[in-house]
Amino acid sequence: MTRAPSGPKSARSEAKDYRAYSFWLETAGEELAPRPSLPGPVEADVAILGAGFTGLWTAYYLLAQDPSLKVVVLEAEIAGFGASGRNGAWCSSGFPVSPGELQRRFGREAARELLLEMRGAVEEVGTVARAEEIDAQYFRGGQLRVARGPSQLPAIEAAYESLLRLGLAEDIRVLDAHETAGRVRITDARGALYNPHCATIHPARLARGLARAVERLGGEIFERTPVTDYEVGGKSPRLVTDSGEVRASTIVLAGEAYLARLRKLRRQLLPIYSLIVLTEPLSEERWAEIGWEGRECVASNRYTVDYLSRTEDGRILFGGRGAPYHFGSRVKDEYERHEPTHQMLRRTARDWFPVLEGARFTHAWGGPLAVPRDWMPTISYDPSRGLATARGYTGQGVATANLSGRTLADLILKRQTAITGLPTVDYKQRPWEPEPLRWLGARYVQHGLMKVDDNAERTGEPPTGKTLAERLGKH
Ligand SMILES: Cc1cc2nc3c(=O)[nH]c(=O)nc-3n(C[C@H](O)[C@H](O)[C@H](O)COP(=O)(O)OP(=O)(O)OC[C@H]3O[C@@H](n4cnc5c(N)ncnc54)[C@H](O)[C@@H]3O)c2cc1C
Repeated sequence: MTRAPSGPKSARSEAKDYRAYSFWLETAGEELAPRPSLPGPVEADVAILGAGFTGLWTAYYLLAQDPSLKVVVLEAEIAGFGASGRNGAWCSSGFPVSPGELQRRFGREAARELLLEMRGAVEEVGTVARAEEIDAQYFRGGQLRVARGPSQLPAIEAAYESLLRLGLAEDIRVLDAHETAGRVRITDARGALYNPHCATIHPARLARGLARAVERLGGEIFERTPVTDYEVGGKSPRLVTDSGEVRASTIVLAGEAYLARLRKLRRQLLPIYSLIVLTEPLSEERWAEIGWEGRECVASNRYTVDYLSRTEDGRILFGGRGAPYHFGSRVKDEYERHEPTHQMLRRTARDWFPVLEGARFTHAWGGPLAVPRDWMPTISYDPSRGLATARGYTGQGVATANLSGRTLADLILKRQTAITGLPTVDYKQRPWEPEPLRWLGARYVQHGLMKVDDNAERTGEPPTGKTLAERLGKH
């Protein structure tokens, strides 16, 4: 997999092999031939930047509710090119800000409502995939948050307690080591928290299928059309491209980490790379040793984040953070491969499942996710400026983007619903510090949290939560 670096301005001239960007894009079940680019200036009711889950769900719900709207989506590459076509396959009710922190910031009721809506979003993704006949391989296996080693047990208990305080623990179960091994055999697993509100999906099939559903509803998607700037206020908001402007009553910025490439948004989000390795399909003998028949999404409690899923064709996907932040919030294709991190992921996968010794890892890829200054995503709409956006999912965006799409559609159509009152709506994200402070801070926290994790694993003592890195990276 060799790829040339690209930016919003250069994408159009390159003929890219989009299948090489992830296992999911490779197995999307189609050639990934780009749709036509924007032919020239266009007028629309709603113009959306980005054909990932956020942009596509927004277009989908707008058109489903008001088929008379002219909705135009501009995508720099192809639908599903970004994180939506490359992720860990979790469609999870997990939210970037922890339940306890949500309660502290917004109060019990608001936190509870938001988390209930996240559970609803997991359901809704499956419902729409079925209704639109999208072969998204949606499988509701739930989620296991595993305590690997004694140092991680208190985190499991604390997570359960915070859901209990919110009255959301009814179907959540704390499993002991024996019960955990009954589901999946992971070395040194001391227990786990089981949460049924999680499914696995085939991300690229979902994104590509959604794009077709949007078109069936009358939406127009122009691919290989990078937006180089946007204007709001004045007579008409617009998205600016090299082939002309799209003027609309409302523009929607749905580019997640890639938004940092736009000058006006450079400090809004911190692009962080999450990387993934994937095994070959494993033999029945190997699966017999591992178990994992329930195909739950699995993670441990490391600050530095790991996430696993079992694919429909019997592979293990092992993802994690650890790739370094790049100065100036730069986003480039070449950052998606960071051999030390990919090697660490392969090593860790074998450590979790010693039976993987000798098994081949066939794929390695990555992509940028977007971290807002205080980890809180925003779903906002300013009618006076004709500007809408949803962003900042910190790697938990599959189900969240569905909630964003429904919320933005309601806001733009001026419908007051249960979701338009959630604390995510019109949440004002603080900008990140200017460089070089941003780089220094991000690298310090990345390095510091890794040290805290390693130390906890080595000593068996849980993290104190008091180190500077933990306090800065707390969410
Ligand atoms: C490796 C990885 C693993 C992840 N795993 C999970 C997971 O298991 N579960 C989970 O919930 N979340 C996960 N996430 C996060 C999740 O995938 C994202 O939060 C979600 O897909 C974001 O959707 P989006 O549409 O907002 O952004 P994206 O999917 O990134 O889409 C943005 C789109 O906008 C386009 N774009 C950007 N700028 C421009 C421009 N200037 N002009 C035109 N088009 C533009 C991009 O090309 C892209 O297609 C993961 C992310 C990564 C990177």
